[in-house]
Amino acid sequence: MGVRPISQSGDNDMWVEDWALRAACRETAKPDELFVRGAEQNQAKQVCQGCPVRTECLAEALDNQIEWGVWGGMTERERRALVRRHPSASWRKILETARTRAQTASA
Ligand code: SF4
Repeated sequence: MGVRPISQSGDNDMWVEDWALRAACRETAKPDELFVRGAEQNQAKQVCQGCPVRTECLAEALDNQIEWGVWGGMTERERRALVRRHPSASWRKILETARTRAQTASA
């Protein structure tokens, strides 16, 4: 589907249920920085680059069709395009499976 799993730390082979507690943006960004508009979103996405729970965050936004702000390193427009192409997908299942496959292949 053109969505790659994101593994930043190399140690996150299990799905993190309480991912928000490990969010990089908890430490580095003011909440409003991720809820900007237009071109500012591309700058806001940089906060997500090293986030250890980026995949979980992205799945949360896609599965709940959150339309506002940067989540999982994707802008609202980017997420909307994915959801439009696969409106009934379980993004958690897709991303979790893709991550497991990628880790198995690299082992
Ligand atoms: S991926 Fe980005 S928005 Fe999501 S928790 Fe990490 S830093 Fe925050």
